[in-house]
Amino acid sequence: MKAAVFYEPNLLKIEEVEEPKIGPEELLVKVELSLTCGTDVKLYKRGHPLVKPPIIIGHEFVGEIVKVGYNVNKFKLGQRVVSANSAPCNSCLYCKIGKPNLCERLDEVIIGFTLNGSYAEYVKIPERIVKQNTFTIPEGTNPKRMALLEPLACVVHGNELANINLGDKVVVIGSGPIGLLHLWLARLKGARDVIVVDAEQKRLDEAKAFGATKTVLAKDEREVMEVMELTEIGADVVIEAVGIPQTWEKALLMCRKGGKVIFFGGCPPNTKASLDTKRIHYGEINLMGCFHHTPNSVLKAYELLSSGLVEGEKLVSKEMKLDKVKEALDLVSEKKAIKIAITMD
Ligand SMILES: [Zn+2]
Ligand SMILES: [Zn+2]
Repeated sequence: MKAAVFYEPNLLKIEEVEEPKIGPEELLVKVELSLTCGTDVKLYKRGHPLVKPPIIIGHEFVGEIVKVGYNVNKFKLGQRVVSANSAPCNSCLYCKIGKPNLCERLDEVIIGFTLNGSYAEYVKIPERIVKQNTFTIPEGTNPKRMALLEPLACVVHGNELANINLGDKVVVIGSGPIGLLHLWLARLKGARDVIVVDAEQKRLDEAKAFGATKTVLAKDEREVMEVMELTEIGADVVIEAVGIPQTWEKALLMCRKGGKVIFFGGCPPNTKASLDTKRIHYGEINLMGCFHHTPNSVLKAYELLSSGLVEGEKLVSKEMKLDKVKEALDLVSEKKAIKIAITMD
């Protein structure tokens, strides 16, 4: 079969590789399409310590079941499915205390990261994911929408930590696909204002089209002041979805006393940020890290997509063939497209 194999930073080859063999608890899926993701771009450009090349990347896929392991009862041949990229072990400490997103054995099973991924004609879904995080696609539902399951599941988890209330003023820093999904869920939760901050006007225009009530261009260090003017006392909730120390620091400065900052964007390894301690202490500001998804947030993401409450396909601005996956990742990294659907035929 044809697949996009990652060897080292900036070396991704379209190659003929062997079709995956499945075990008794696994599924083989013929990939219909697989969306580009920020993680794929980061991986392609700089690699990752957990990723052991050569490996097929890609993980936001939809496809048809073409082989069913003999112990799998939940799924049938020919069904169209979507799955998350990972699933927790359910036996480590973090799984037992109800934090499966922090599972100590998460790294063992991540499609497109530690296991071969979906920029390929076929992808294998491993046991843990079959059992916990795989869903059939309702007839007639847009496959590009359903393929957003994994990123939306992460955003649902962040949204739950943010605990947005009716009438809240919310700031989302970063207007990439993740920021736009946060904007969407904040509106669904009844936020009065969702102010989106980004360094590029084009991205802010996209945010407007997705329902941002106000947008702020991050320029000349004026964005904190502008957010303070718009909110008067600062936002109830600030969601950082960029992942650089400067925006982590600014997120805190945009939050009102007693408010909440969700650090959703992961910074590069060994990054340090300096946060205003006085503001945190006297303002009782809640700072929360946020990572990955849980089977619960994956299920909720599935409900949001399959019901049409989140029309995820609106984030997919282009379709390209598997041969063009490098070009697609470049386009996304240059911010010329929000997300691109890689098709396999
Ligand atoms: Zn992803
Ligand atoms: Zn675990």
